[in-house]
Amino acid sequence: MTANVDPQEIAKFAASASRWWDLDGEFKPLHQLNPVRLRYVEQCAGGLFGKRVADIGCGGGLLAEALARRGAQVTAIDLAAESLDVARSHAAGQGLTIDYRLQSTEALAEAETGQFDVVTCMEMLEHVPDPAAIVRACATLLRPGGTLVMSTLNRTVSGLLLGVVAAEYLLRLVPKGTHDWQRFLKPSELLAMGDAVGLLPRELCGMHYNPLTGQVALTPGKVVVNYLAYLEKRLCS
Ligand code: SAH
Repeated sequence: MTANVDPQEIAKFAASASRWWDLDGEFKPLHQLNPVRLRYVEQCAGGLFGKRVADIGCGGGLLAEALARRGAQVTAIDLAAESLDVARSHAAGQGLTIDYRLQSTEALAEAETGQFDVVTCMEMLEHVPDPAAIVRACATLLRPGGTLVMSTLNRTVSGLLLGVVAAEYLLRLVPKGTHDWQRFLKPSELLAMGDAVGLLPRELCGMHYNPLTGQVALTPGKVVVNYLAYLEKRLCS
């Protein structure tokens, strides 16, 4: 089996790894999204304290740290070793204990089947060759009734104009080549991937990012470009 990873994508993130915690660097939009998506995950999960959470494609640990601060027991994986180095040393500096692993989602799912109450996978699906396999592995990681929250970008004309043309070329929020529009996922496609592996759709929620003010608004039921998908693992499979 060939690994479900695009080495060029990993190399891109590895090259930027030293800037994960730079509030004015290319990850600034993720820092601005972070409190909003944390609150959303917390609401979907009915609280985080004491829960086992897996964060898939964790990068420098922006969400993993926020989850840990809420009292979750966090395992976080990525395939860019440089990002994990940054994540580990940043967490140590904050006095946070997070189980960072250089591991694929599929390998974690094999090792920890059904062990997590909550799985998060933010802004990662649009960087992998086979997103359906990631959704399947996320389902495998969850206990029955567990909560999955994923975010990605919508493959529409607005997604192309705002997510690529505006963000990378006009406003230069993120480096050119950060996103390949063809890998964006329509909500219907993501929900179909979930349905195939026993994940019930609970809510779709747009994340509207204003690059001028840095403000983020959630728009439940209204997806334009960036969105959160909340799914729940079926009790009976
Ligand atoms: N989830 C983080 C980082 C998003 S950037 C956040 O939202 O703050 C996308 C991340 O996915 C990068 O860290 C990249 O290294 C990781 N990634 C890309 N392909 C991956 C794969 N196949 N397996 C695990 N991580 C992957």
